[in-house]
Amino acid sequence: MGCSNNAPSTNENARTNDDARWNIIFVLGSPGGGKGTQCDKIKAKYKIFHYSCGELLRQAVKENNKEAELINKYMKEGKIVPARITCELQKKCMEKNEKEYKAFLCDGFPRNEENLKFFFEVMGKDVKVLCTLFLTCPEDVCIERIQKRGGGRVDDNVETIKKRFKSLKEETVPTVNKLKGYGPVYEIKANQTIDEVFKDIDEKLKDLLTTK
Ligand code: UDP
Ligand code: MG
Repeated sequence: MGCSNNAPSTNENARTNDDARWNIIFVLGSPGGGKGTQCDKIKAKYKIFHYSCGELLRQAVKENNKEAELINKYMKEGKIVPARITCELQKKCMEKNEKEYKAFLCDGFPRNEENLKFFFEVMGKDVKVLCTLFLTCPEDVCIERIQKRGGGRVDDNVETIKKRFKSLKEETVPTVNKLKGYGPVYEIKANQTIDEVFKDIDEKLKDLLTTK
């Protein structure tokens, strides 16, 4: 695990697997960049199941999952939880909903190379990557948005937000570049109104998904 040297730079199956069991759209971006907000708009229009990996983790902590302590510690430090944990939660979530849905909006994952590699090792043969959306927004705008949203998350304090930005730059941005080998990657400017951002996203999704 975490062995990044031999991670494949492309994954032919993820791009061409037309009869895939799970068709995935990855949504990544700045903390406070609006991933959750935009995912709500996407699922309101298209037939796709949305799950947030951050929410799955917060839920696992609440339910006293055997890894709750570790998860909470990682999140408080703005660190990325090991993929064996996030992938198990995602797999369960897709299995639960696959009767109704063929497409899944995977919000907040993969955040580093270990996440990416493990995900495709475990689920690669079942997956087609429809695309990746990468929502980018200046750090000062994001910090202001996060401070406004409230909600009592353990990681929504300035100190942890700074660490989350560090992990975005150092780990997630290189991972997004790697994802180009798995399907198209669309960078979306998230420093606009909610409707303007959605318009840009919708432009990319309209040929990939079926409307409700
Ligand atoms: N997290 C993680 N793996 C994931 C998703 C989330 O480790 O696949 C952790 C990580 O510590 C992150 C936190 O959960 O900083 C919050 O993630 P979320 O996507 O909810 O919020 P964001 O930082 O993107 O606003
Ligand atoms: Mg979120």
